[in-house]
Amino acid sequence: MTNALTYSGSCFCGVVQFTVSGEPIAMGYCHCESCRHWSAGPVNAFTLWKPEAVQVTQGADSIGTYSKTAHSYRKWCTTCGGHLFTQHPGIELTDVYAAVIPNFPYKAGIHVNYQETVLRMSDGLPKMKDVSKELDGSGISVPE
Ligand SMILES: [Zn+2]
Ligand SMILES: [Zn+2]
Repeated sequence: MTNALTYSGSCFCGVVQFTVSGEPIAMGYCHCESCRHWSAGPVNAFTLWKPEAVQVTQGADSIGTYSKTAHSYRKWCTTCGGHLFTQHPGIELTDVYAAVIPNFPYKAGIHVNYQETVLRMSDGLPKMKDVSKELDGSGISVPE
């Protein structure tokens, strides 16, 4: 990781600062109801990283955690309420919202949980009914 590119991220107010280093495992849009409800937006632009690639550099004691299910530990800033990232211990990946790492060259590769979509996107990218088999999903593709 010595020469890995590093990008800065922060919460809405800047109390919490963090970095991501190297390359994400995957990038795309999640259309699931949980992401929608949590983000208050129609889709979530995600970047999935190995947990060690995400380092909190400031404001760690201002990070709140909510876990509705054992699959997801959602992190936000307790000062501003701005979202940070979600840890997925089962698959050992951390979802850093693309919106909180604005200088990272985000490039979506896939849409997941498309069966739950409320905002269809005709961008030609693959659409998965839920998620890939590697992530314990069906691996089934669906039309745009
Ligand atoms: Zn904040
Ligand atoms: Zn989701």
